[in-house]
Amino acid sequence: ALMITDACINCDVCEPECPNGAISMGAEYYVIAPSRCTECVGHFDEPQCVAICPVECIPLNPEHVESREQLQAKYEGLEAEK
Ligand code: SF4
Ligand code: SF4
Repeated sequence: ALMITDACINCDVCEPECPNGAISMGAEYYVIAPSRCTECVGHFDEPQCVAICPVECIPLNPEHVESREQLQAKYEGLEAEK
């Protein structure tokens, strides 16, 4: 999963781009729910939030490092919820 750092300027553009509904407003700036972030695996070739963020504040979450297989499995689990 990816994460948003405190460099976020709350510009709102990433939230609607997330195919998994993983991004929401947190206490001070936007946050990514690790359980819903597939790093866009299953939907797109690259993370859509990273592609659109104007301040490059969305790195990998070091507490949620996952393989492509794990991300694919998360994607399939999220799709099964629909
Ligand atoms: Fe959503 Fe993709 Fe960004 Fe993860 S990488 S928060 S799934 S847009
Ligand atoms: Fe924050 Fe970047 Fe999302 Fe804008 S696009 S709300 S700066 S994380």
